[in-house]
Amino acid sequence: MKQYSMIINGQSVSSGNVADVINPATEQPFARVHIGDAELVNQAVSAARSAFPLWSQTPISERDQMLLELASAMQANMPELMELVTLESGKPMGGLNGIGSGMEVGGSIAWTQYTTSLELPTEVVQDNEEALVEVHRKALGVVASITPWNWPLMIAIWHIAPALKAGNTVVIKPSSLTPTATIRMVELANEIFPKGVLNIVTGDADVGDAISSHPDVNKIIFTGSTPTGKAIMANSVNGLKRLTLELGGNDAGIVLPDVNVNDVVPKLFGAIFHNNGHTCACLKRLYVHESQYQAISNGLAEMAMSVTLGNGLEDSTELGPIQNAKQLVIVEALINDAKQQGGKILCGGERLSKTGYFFKPTIITGLTDGHRLVDEEQFGPVIAVVKYTDVDEVIERANKNSCGLGGSIWSDDMATAAKLVMRLECGTAWVNEHGGLQPDAPFGGIKQSGIGVEFGQHGLAEYTSLQTVRIPKK
Ligand code: NAD
Repeated sequence: MKQYSMIINGQSVSSGNVADVINPATEQPFARVHIGDAELVNQAVSAARSAFPLWSQTPISERDQMLLELASAMQANMPELMELVTLESGKPMGGLNGIGSGMEVGGSIAWTQYTTSLELPTEVVQDNEEALVEVHRKALGVVASITPWNWPLMIAIWHIAPALKAGNTVVIKPSSLTPTATIRMVELANEIFPKGVLNIVTGDADVGDAISSHPDVNKIIFTGSTPTGKAIMANSVNGLKRLTLELGGNDAGIVLPDVNVNDVVPKLFGAIFHNNGHTCACLKRLYVHESQYQAISNGLAEMAMSVTLGNGLEDSTELGPIQNAKQLVIVEALINDAKQQGGKILCGGERLSKTGYFFKPTIITGLTDGHRLVDEEQFGPVIAVVKYTDVDEVIERANKNSCGLGGSIWSDDMATAAKLVMRLECGTAWVNEHGGLQPDAPFGGIKQSGIGVEFGQHGLAEYTSLQTVRIPKK
C-alpha cells in the first residue's frame, strides 16, 4: 500500500507512527500516512519561520509566477489528484450536477490562477509638501492552515494560495481522514517553492492543538466545525494570533408560494444533496410555503429515489458514501430523533445493504423548528422539509439559528426575492440557487459560522497587516 510522508523544510519526513487512510466506499485502507506530533510541528513552524524573511521580500510577481507553476503542476497531475480525492473522500469523479473530484481539482487550479490576478496596492493617504503617508499591506509571518475532510484539496488551496501570495510561509495540517491529495499537492509545490515556504504535518486533534497553540504561528486559517473553531480560538489567545474561522453552517432556503414546482425541485435537490450534503454551504433547512409543501416534498423524494449511489470511481455514480463512520452515526442519530418527534420519512432513512458508508438520500416531512434535524447541522444526505404560512414569520425563524453561513430565497418574482434575501442573517445570500462560490467574491460566516472571509481582495487582505509609513518632507 502506498505510504505518504510529511514535508518539512523541503524534505520528506517519516515518523514511527503510521495510520491507515480508509476509502469510505470500501471501508478498507487504500494508503498509509506518517503521523506527526508536537516535535514535528515545532520543526515545521521553525522551517516556515526561517523561510519567511526571504519569501516575504521576494517580489510579488515572482511569488505569483510560482503559484501559476503550481496550478500547471496540478493540471499535469490532475488524474492522480482526482483519484486520490475520490479514494479518500468518497466523492464521485463526476458526480451529481458535475460536483465531484474533477470539479474539486479543476477548482483548485482555477482558484490558484485567479489568486495571482489579485493585488495588494499601497494606499497613499497623504502626499503634499508636508509629508508622504502610505499604507502598506505586509505579510503576517507563519500561517497555520487546518482543513476538514469534505473538500480536502480545494480548501487547502483556498488557504495556501492567498497566504503564499501575500508573502507568508505556511504549515498545513489536513484532516487525518483525507490527507493524501493535500500531501501530493504539497509535494508538487515543494518542487517549485523554496524550502520551508510550504510545510505539511499530518495528524489529528493533538497535532492541530500543537499548531494552534504554537507561539511562533502568527495566523490560523481554519475550516471545520464550530466546536473545533472555538477550541482553536481559545488556543490562540496567548499569542494574539490573527484568525480566519470558516465554521459550520445550517443554511436555510425559503421557497415562496409563486415558484414553478417542476423548475425548482431539481435545483433544490442539487443544492441539498451535492457532495452528499458534505458541503458547508449546502442547503440544510428547507422552508416551503404550505401551498407547495406536498408537491415539493414529493418531487424531492422522487429525485432522491432515482439518484445513483455508488463507488465514486464508477462513471455512473452521482452520490458516493458518507465520508466517515462518525458522520454516519451523526446522520443516523438525527434521523432516529426525527422519527421519535413524529417526522415522516418520505424516502431513504437507511444505509444501503452493502459494504461502504452508503446512506440513501432521505427526505423527512412533519418536523419544525425545535427539532434536532432542523436546528442542528446534519452535514449528510438528509433534509427536513419544513412548512410555513407567513413569509415575515419564516424569515424570523430562519434567522433564529446560531449559524449564519448562507441562505436563499426561491421565487419567480426576482424583485421580491432580491429584497427578502437581504433580510437573511448570513454571509452569503442567494436567489434561486444555493451554495455557489466564486474566487472574486468574499465568502464567510457570521454569528457562529465564523470570523472573517476568504476569496477576492477582502480574503487576500486577511493574510496581511497594515503598516502606515510617514515620511516628512520638511
Ligand atoms: P472538524 O472540526 O472535526 O475538523 C477539522 C480539522 O480540525 C481537522 O483537520 C481536524 O483534525 C482538526 N482538529 C480537530 N480538533 C482540533 C483541535 N482541538 N485543535 C486544532 N485542530 C483540530 O471538522 P470536520 O468534521 O473535518 O468538517 C466538517 C465541518 O466543517 C462541518 O461543520 C462543516 O460545516 C465545516 N465546514 C465549514 C466550511 C466553511 O467554509 N464555513 C467549509 C467546509 C466545512
